[in-house]
Amino acid sequence: MTTIEAVRLRRILDSRGNATVEADIWTTTGFGRSAAPSGASTGTYEAKVRPVAEAIRDAEQGLLPELVGLDAADQPGFDRAIREHDGTPDLSKVGANVAVALSLANARAAATALDQELFRYLGGCFAGETPFPLGNVIGGGAHALNATDIQEFLVVPTGAPTAEDGVFANAAVHRKVKELLVAMGKGSGKGDEGAWAPAIDDLTAFETVHQAVVAVSDEVGFVINMGIDVAASEIWKDDAYRYKDAARTTEEQIAYIAELVDRYDLIYVEDPLHEEDFEGFADLSEEIGDRCLVCGDDLFVTNPERIMRGIELGSANCVLIKPNQIGTLTDTWEAIEMAHTHGLDTVMSHRSGETTDTTIAHLGTAFGCIFLKTGAVGGERIAKLNELIRIEEQQ
Ligand code: PGA
Ligand code: ZN
Repeated sequence: MTTIEAVRLRRILDSRGNATVEADIWTTTGFGRSAAPSGASTGTYEAKVRPVAEAIRDAEQGLLPELVGLDAADQPGFDRAIREHDGTPDLSKVGANVAVALSLANARAAATALDQELFRYLGGCFAGETPFPLGNVIGGGAHALNATDIQEFLVVPTGAPTAEDGVFANAAVHRKVKELLVAMGKGSGKGDEGAWAPAIDDLTAFETVHQAVVAVSDEVGFVINMGIDVAASEIWKDDAYRYKDAARTTEEQIAYIAELVDRYDLIYVEDPLHEEDFEGFADLSEEIGDRCLVCGDDLFVTNPERIMRGIELGSANCVLIKPNQIGTLTDTWEAIEMAHTHGLDTVMSHRSGETTDTTIAHLGTAFGCIFLKTGAVGGERIAKLNELIRIEEQQ
């Protein structure tokens, strides 16, 4: 038994300068620390975040004393204690930010008590290969002002022989995109996740990233593919997808996305339709699912019940996994297991508001996710990418 001796929460900064929750957990021989990230384009059905200071104060008075004395090695038991204390389906009493920080810190404490790396502790001898890094190089939407309508233009080095090569390839594409933007007179600052945020239209962004991918693929000698996160719930208003230069009905949006997939050889499309449209997702999957990952983020919010509905309707062939959307590690694992059991791929993901916490690099490897979505550059993004390189070294 790995008895929990002390638990502490504190308020720390995230990458947007907002407050977030960090948890420390001590066992007899172990110590774990983790912090909650936060989203900007959050899904309606995500577990609920509470204001940091009051959520910490309430937890100190109610929840934390109940966790002392539990067995850190019993992760489902630890997570059940949080859920039972909370008593709501969306963790709105404890706060998903407090819950996820505690849940991940507990896994880390249990791993260190055994002197094991987290990915090994959680994945055992079946810990998967490191996932390919999936990173955004141009972005707009809710992550930057006056930039593209599509939230993220992504690259993934599917031909990279190692994760390390892949991480460097993505950074090279990011650099090349800057060169191309500057040459067009469209040099810009960066959005919340470190992607360039130029004032260009979506088609110019596609052309620019495509050109950068071709140039860097040539240099490194392996295939780099493109993808997008449309974050379509953000542009769905009054029954249409509202782009700066067009409004598209659901049918038009499906046709538009399918055309983009073929024109730019996209292998990954996230949230191409809004978060209620399981049927629209299914129609698009029917059309492009044989050559492209159709991934649900706001659609599924890492929630096993919503994932099951998507499986029944054939909505997607891929699930985005954000532990803070569902609030505990046990629920996160159940979401992944459900997806994998039914033949869907999973992508472990950061949020737009992040800390230097590296836990998702371990989870993506332990649980056999195909990609680790965590940007291409930037301090809180490279924390995870560099951890992925370290994890790969130990396999
Ligand atoms: P968020 O964006 O963290 O702001 O929700 C990331 C995403 O939509 O994938
Ligand atoms: Zn998304």
